[in-house]
Amino acid sequence: MEVFSHSRLSKYESCPAAFYRHYVLEAPEVPSEPLVLGKACHTVIETAMRLGQKDENFFRLMSKAVLDTAPIPIEPEEVFSLTCNDSVLREFHPGNKIEEHLLASLSDEPFAPQVQGYIDLWRDENCVQLVDWKTNRKAYTPTDTKQLGLYAWYLSKLTGKAVRGKLVFLRLNEAIEHQFSCRDMEDAREWALTLALEIQKKLYKVSKGEDCQGLFPATPGDPCRYCGFAFECVNGELPVPGEIKSYDEAVKLGAEVLRLEAALNQMKGYLKGYVEACGPVVVGGRKFLIAPTNYWDWSSEAVQAVIKKIEEGKKDPYSFLKPDSYQMKKLKWDEKYYEILGAVRKTKYAFKHVSAN
Ligand code: SF4
Repeated sequence: MEVFSHSRLSKYESCPAAFYRHYVLEAPEVPSEPLVLGKACHTVIETAMRLGQKDENFFRLMSKAVLDTAPIPIEPEEVFSLTCNDSVLREFHPGNKIEEHLLASLSDEPFAPQVQGYIDLWRDENCVQLVDWKTNRKAYTPTDTKQLGLYAWYLSKLTGKAVRGKLVFLRLNEAIEHQFSCRDMEDAREWALTLALEIQKKLYKVSKGEDCQGLFPATPGDPCRYCGFAFECVNGELPVPGEIKSYDEAVKLGAEVLRLEAALNQMKGYLKGYVEACGPVVVGGRKFLIAPTNYWDWSSEAVQAVIKKIEEGKKDPYSFLKPDSYQMKKLKWDEKYYEILGAVRKTKYAFKHVSAN
């Protein structure tokens, strides 16, 4: 492996096993929702900018078009609201360079590893303006990861100018900027070079017959939440099979699902006990804690007031308020009676396990 990208390197850094499986074995990975949503948003923005289209209808049509072949269902309205907003529209400038490919050697040594990537947006002004779109739910600064630092290093080499980077958080309509210093950019380059050389060394050892699981160990934690290999990673180990090829394999997988569900409940129980006694536990970017859940308790008087208010707005209150199955069971009526009253029986299908007898 000679060419690396920020996503390759950060995947290796967060879990070497996931990196090895994805980039070396090229095993198919179940796409995650954040990945598919992020790609869709990038495509919509890229197309709108290339065509100079700021029109709402264009964004709406594109949001639908890019999701037509998406591997998991996502609402076009979500992509539309993330992309057709002020934080994107204000970045339309004549000198924009959009989704430009970067490829550079990470050092002057012969055969040094290279870094590549696609820069969302940059333009050459008094200093270079570098922009990267993010669909994350939580904002972070441009130096919290090395991605923008690497791009800044490349652009500063290319133009000889200072680089101002900006992360645009589409969901939050918020942008966080940073003027990259030489130290920031050098840190990013050194980070990439160190990891790339480490990976190359390990891959060489694997080619000489060393155990890949020991060299690229699974490291369970925060990244597992969006790992496409989570379903086949048991206790931090990845067995070889991918898709199910026989009924026997399906039975084995089903057995593992039952064990994992039980194990998960037990582990959650132990962790909850610890948190109750000792306080929150932080795992990467996630925190386990005892959090309150708020809900509304409606008295009969309050429900009557709701019905009155809806009627005042000239709407049918019974299209909003329907008896739910849990409440109906309390009346202990025979279900045949529901039909006489005019309810229609409907069936939904869900994947679950039930008693086989
Ligand atoms: S599930 Fe977690 S530990 Fe397993 S490969 Fe994925 S990131 Fe690594």
